[in-house]
Amino acid sequence: MAIFPGIDPAKCNGCGLCVTVCERGGLILVTGPVVAAVETANCDWCAYCETVCETGAIRCAYEIVFEVP
Ligand code: SF4
Ligand code: SF4
Repeated sequence: MAIFPGIDPAKCNGCGLCVTVCERGGLILVTGPVVAAVETANCDWCAYCETVCETGAIRCAYEIVFEVP
């Protein structure tokens, strides 16, 4: 099963920013203020959607870890 960004409908205000920034067609605005992640095969986990979401409704299911040499 593919892992894709999780969206908390209780926090989503339907602004559509995440849909706008996704270059992979991985998100679609659905009924009301809720956004759903779809077409998960196209998601490259760039996390742009998580970054632009002002309400914290999107959480990518991974962490980026920077290693200090
Ligand atoms: S950016 Fe956040 S608040 Fe806006 S539509 Fe996407 S999930 Fe909802
Ligand atoms: S992580 Fe990137 S490719 Fe995946 S749904 Fe979000 S913006 Fe689109």
